[in-house]
Amino acid sequence: MTPENTQQINGNTGDMDPEEFRRHAHSVVDWIADYFQNVDQYPVLAQVQPGDIAARLPEQAPEEPEAMERILEDFDEKLLPGMTHWNHPAFFAYFAITGSAPGVLGEMLAAALNVNAMVWRSGPTPTELEERSLDWLRQMIGLPAAFRGHIQDTASISSLVAIATAREEAGLRIREEGMSGRDLPRLRLYCSEEAHSSIEKAGLTLGIGRTGTRRIPTDSQFRMDVAALEAAIEEDVAAGWKPFCVVATVGTTSTTSIDPVPRIADVCEKHGLWLHVDAAYGGSAAVAPEMRWILEGCERADSLVTNPHKWLFVPVDCSALFLRRPERVKRAFSLVPEYLITPEGASATNLMDYGPALGRRFRSLKLWMVLRYFGREGIAARIREHLRLAREFAGWVEAAPGWELVAPVPFSTVVFRRHPDGATGEEADALNERILERVNATGRAFLSHTRLRGRLSLRLAVGNLRTTEEHVRRAWELLQNEAGNV
Ligand code: PLP
Repeated sequence: MTPENTQQINGNTGDMDPEEFRRHAHSVVDWIADYFQNVDQYPVLAQVQPGDIAARLPEQAPEEPEAMERILEDFDEKLLPGMTHWNHPAFFAYFAITGSAPGVLGEMLAAALNVNAMVWRSGPTPTELEERSLDWLRQMIGLPAAFRGHIQDTASISSLVAIATAREEAGLRIREEGMSGRDLPRLRLYCSEEAHSSIEKAGLTLGIGRTGTRRIPTDSQFRMDVAALEAAIEEDVAAGWKPFCVVATVGTTSTTSIDPVPRIADVCEKHGLWLHVDAAYGGSAAVAPEMRWILEGCERADSLVTNPHKWLFVPVDCSALFLRRPERVKRAFSLVPEYLITPEGASATNLMDYGPALGRRFRSLKLWMVLRYFGREGIAARIREHLRLAREFAGWVEAAPGWELVAPVPFSTVVFRRHPDGATGEEADALNERILERVNATGRAFLSHTRLRGRLSLRLAVGNLRTTEEHVRRAWELLQNEAGNV
């Protein structure tokens, strides 16, 4: 036991001494700076098996205080090996992201302030900075001024809040009277078969049920088939369902396809349905003016989610939900018990009114720091580079015999597969699975997969600020080598 710990046991019931904090904080900051510099030295995908990390940890919580030096040593030795490094430049799986340095600084300060911005007076700056920084983001991606944004932790919750609001707007008084034991029509939510699972999860959380979420077929480029949507709505109405909401996706998870939002908006307007746009990944691209077209028609949406923690270099978690008429969310969610009534009343925004959560972290600080540090031009330049790298990679795949692109590449994600001449679909699936396993096992790159029309494909997503053309080239060489070895 170190002297400072002895002191801690002998009657110290407070926090760490400020000077001790300063010392450890400096070493942690040094650790972070070294990590950013050398992150490519780690295996991208954690090279451990399920249970390996838990086996290193004591089953009982510590009885006595421990020295921070010792705790930090264990962080390095016991925990770090179980980390998959999302900040690694060869992280190409899922949607690659960046916890950028300005964002990390914002997180550090937010942790120190430890504010809970549930009502305005409990966090005037977090409340007003959230509104201002999201209005900057709104302008950057070209949404009209009518949209007002607030921050949720993830896109899953943003979409849940949007769809819950849509359900309330359907006029069935569900907020007041609930859904059980009442004579209600069955509600129907629509999205494409390529929509993210979070939409169906919102449906199951909100009592719509999995069968209440109708997945609409897609065209040859994995975009929602609008004629099929319209036919489904008409069929449902005739059968007694109550359609209430359509979710369009700008940048689907598997292929980054873009649903035809203007035509979907026409259908929603005709049938009086809420239009929610899931642009969790794709929305950030609109910061580059030449990519604004991806949000065409979104000005007619009732709500839109985009995730600064995906492709806007803000550390997880930070999801921006924009609403064309924010008072509707408030109508669905606001519930103010006596102990949360404040003298400011309606003259101030209370963030607790905009979703199910009461407590709010100060997430806008990291967003504000990222937006200021890089600026719109800087963000656009970085996104442009990621788009370029993805196009480069797609070009190599297209030119290589025995490989094929499986979907168009509108953003920075390439969906492709090995398909040697003469191989059956099943043989090619097995081959791609083996290639993926072997590439990921090297620890030198990490890719993920998807299944399209029943066939397995590989995905390479560029989204990390440290990724260069060299990293993409090396990933391609690795894929080709491993394809030669299976
Ligand atoms: N929507 C889309 C299109 C996504 O790709 C994802 C995740 O990749 C999500 C929603 C869910 O995002 P989150 O993890 O923020 O809930």
